[in-house]
Amino acid sequence: MSAKEIQMAVIGGGPAGLSAALAAKLDGAGSVVVIERKRQWGQPIQCAGYAPRMLGRFAEFDATAIKHYLKSLELYLDGQRIRSFAAPGYILRRDVLETQMAQAAEAAGVVCLQPARALEISAGELRVQTADGEETYRPFIIIGADGPKSLARRALGLPDQPMAAGLEWELPLAKPGDAAEIHFAAEFGAGYAWLFPYGETAGVGVAVDLDSPGEPKPLLQDFVDRMIAEGRLKDSTPLSIVSGPIPIGGPAATTLSGNIMLVGDAAGQVNPLTGAGIYNAVACGQMAGRAAAQAAIASDLSLLQEYETEWRELLDGFLNRALASRTEMAKASIEDFPNTVRKAWRVKDKD
Ligand SMILES: Cc1cc2nc3c(=O)[nH]c(=O)nc-3n(C[C@H](O)[C@H](O)[C@H](O)COP(=O)(O)OP(=O)(O)OC[C@H]3O[C@@H](n4cnc5c(N)ncnc54)[C@H](O)[C@@H]3O)c2cc1C
Repeated sequence: MSAKEIQMAVIGGGPAGLSAALAAKLDGAGSVVVIERKRQWGQPIQCAGYAPRMLGRFAEFDATAIKHYLKSLELYLDGQRIRSFAAPGYILRRDVLETQMAQAAEAAGVVCLQPARALEISAGELRVQTADGEETYRPFIIIGADGPKSLARRALGLPDQPMAAGLEWELPLAKPGDAAEIHFAAEFGAGYAWLFPYGETAGVGVAVDLDSPGEPKPLLQDFVDRMIAEGRLKDSTPLSIVSGPIPIGGPAATTLSGNIMLVGDAAGQVNPLTGAGIYNAVACGQMAGRAAAQAAIASDLSLLQEYETEWRELLDGFLNRALASRTEMAKASIEDFPNTVRKAWRVKDKD
């Protein structure tokens, strides 16, 4: 069977891919196809959902995607609060966010193939497994928005990314709040534990390097036991569980080769220090989609370079500084550890 010619294939219908597809279509691209392997948008959820409020300027979603509004962020070191600052944000329902982003993309004319799995990129063709069998596409442009373990990334010859393991339990809170908490301690290495309140419950989690000596589950259990002893949580039986890998290796050496672009976690655009990637995925997705539309309209792949230039100007230096801080924290001796945390997270004496 001959390959179907399309203008753009977007592998992955997460925040990066849906943002790229919508932006491409709004900027005049012809056929844009999103290939997503999950049966339902955003499910199973693999994210704590904490995002800055300014995400609303870039992504199409309404209040039903928001679990809880947060006002501030508090940093703790060995149980002591070391910094507190205003950080308007929210805890998102990732499945609702992605459903609404997909609806906006489809309303603009994007075709979503779901469930459909991209199997191989070879000689300009993309093999896809759909519910009805295998299809082959010949896209003018491929946007790889396929998350931490990306097929498109491998097609560019890039190495796999180092990962942290994230694990979060939803637990009953003793008292509702509107501050997100990040807790550092030597046992978490360059990672941390978090408590994100949302009403009567909170997402309580840990993210630790996969090659660190501590396993996420016992580390999380210890943290939860401490929060219960301090009267912060009522119980340690999870009401729901979220887990997944977080790429922490920083920006990919390149996010563009030939007609293939990488965006979001696939491109290493997640912040290696905080593990936050939703906002960057959506913002960089827009940049990728716009550049791809211009290249497709002009039939000129050299215009894709605009994407690589634009997102690096915005984020590359910031992400590389975050990576350097993470590396310092990971290498620190027990004595130096508190100082590396303070330096990485910009904690001053007056905080
Ligand atoms: C436990 C945990 C907690 C986190 N908490 C936060 C947080 O609080 N705040 C924050 O900002 N970030 C958080 N993150 C990171 C955040 O989830 C990611 O940075 C963000 O989802 C990146 O978006 P993306 O679209 O690049 O990738 P993804 O959201 O991973 O989307 C990729 C999509 O591609 C699909 N896909 C993959 N391969 C294929 C294939 N071959 N064919 C078809 N489809 C494919 C996947 O099913 C998926 O839907 C967390 C991550 C984890 C694991």
